Amino acid sequence: MGLKSYSRARAVHVMLVYTGGCNGCDIEIVNAVLSPRFDIEQYKIFLTWNPREADVLIVTGPVTKHNEEPLKKIYNSIPNPKAVIAAGACAVMGGVYKNIHGDIPSDEIAGPVENIIPVDAKVPGCAVRCEDVLAGAVSALPKLLEAD
Ligand code: SF4
Repeated sequence: MGLKSYSRARAVHVMLVYTGGCNGCDIEIVNAVLSPRFDIEQYKIFLTWNPREADVLIVTGPVTKHNEEPLKKIYNSIPNPKAVIAAGACAVMGGVYKNIHGDIPSDEIAGPVENIIPVDAKVPGCAVRCEDVLAGAVSALPKLLEAD
């Protein structure tokens, strides 16, 4: 089954998790999901807030210590197969949360995301662009497809 057939045959549910960023990336992503400009629901890609019905987890922010355990809990609640996208510079490599030496202050930040849970796609940008997030979500589909 090709990607097009797959996405048409089965809805893909995307869950967005904030782990301590500035919300700039979240605004862009929610805009991409809700905006008629992209109209992603025509491809049966839907936003969900329930990890048990999610296929793709999009994570924004650097993962503060406070958010480390909740992120793991959400990841473990998502049934297999699942894919994770780290969205934005903070999620990918600490972004603006790095100190002046280029290190992530480990007493406050547990991330980036790949330190906490497996990451399948990294989408850079500050903030991320809607188009790049959608491309990241599409790049995760083959993993879901292989499991069928
Ligand atoms: S990457 Fe930029 S816009 Fe996104 S959460 Fe970090 S600081 Fe905010």
